[in-house]
Amino acid sequence: MTKSPAAPADAAARRAIKPVICYPNETLPVPDLPLYQAARQGAVKTGEVLVQPRDAACFEVPAGHFFRISSVEGPQVGDLNLWNKNDLSERFYSGKTRALHGTHITTGERMWTSFPHMRPMATITEDTLGWYGMDEFGGSVHDVIGTRCDPYTGNLLAGSQYHHCCHSNLTRALADHLGLPPAEAEPHVHDVLNVFMCTGFTRDTGQYFMKASPVRPGDYLEFFAEIDLLGALSACPGGDCSAEHSSDTAACFPLLVEVIAPAEGALSGWKSPLPNAYDQSHGCR
Ligand SMILES: [Zn+2]
Repeated sequence: MTKSPAAPADAAARRAIKPVICYPNETLPVPDLPLYQAARQGAVKTGEVLVQPRDAACFEVPAGHFFRISSVEGPQVGDLNLWNKNDLSERFYSGKTRALHGTHITTGERMWTSFPHMRPMATITEDTLGWYGMDEFGGSVHDVIGTRCDPYTGNLLAGSQYHHCCHSNLTRALADHLGLPPAEAEPHVHDVLNVFMCTGFTRDTGQYFMKASPVRPGDYLEFFAEIDLLGALSACPGGDCSAEHSSDTAACFPLLVEVIAPAEGALSGWKSPLPNAYDQSHGCR
């Protein structure tokens, strides 16, 4: 352990300075939830995929449709990747979503895409775990702070060769879906939305923690697709993430993804958000 330097005389005063929100979000474009809710009435399911435990599956959602991720059979955490179906370089940007909305997201909050697009790609329209809030440990549900469990970290920390981490599951699913060799699919896999996962940072050491997810069969998270989406969902080998991941030890269950189409004309006048309007000149001449 390195020794901490001596605190200066005004340490208490410096620590007492009140924090300032980095990105006040009052000027964020607000999703038209009443329009989405009206479109959801009379919407019909057009397809579903059951994601098997310790595996992943892809699904496509046209702009203006909804998709729902449901817990079935038992408590299970899911790792979600989303791409613009027509341009995989535009993908979910976990870090910027975290900067805009905080560590965990729920109804009315959005998943944002990578630069230079930086626009909402999906809006959460329903969250049956919205009651959970923030617990006494600083834990909450559906985080954008974790990355995804992966075989490289397991190898680094424990010398393991485990092939069913979410990173590998997402890679396999994307490779299968697009007919790509795994080495070409892997770079498209990115930091996830941890669906149903209960996480936070310890107050004393600031370490990333997880605890048993409060999700139960019947719970779901539903989204409105703002653009044409390709999604991949992994049913994490950690199961409810109460103990460990990156192994076959935990009890794991499937996750259901359903795609739902709005009624004809229910979204008349609605358009996908435009890409970010910054001119991308970056001060270059
Ligand atoms: Zn995982």
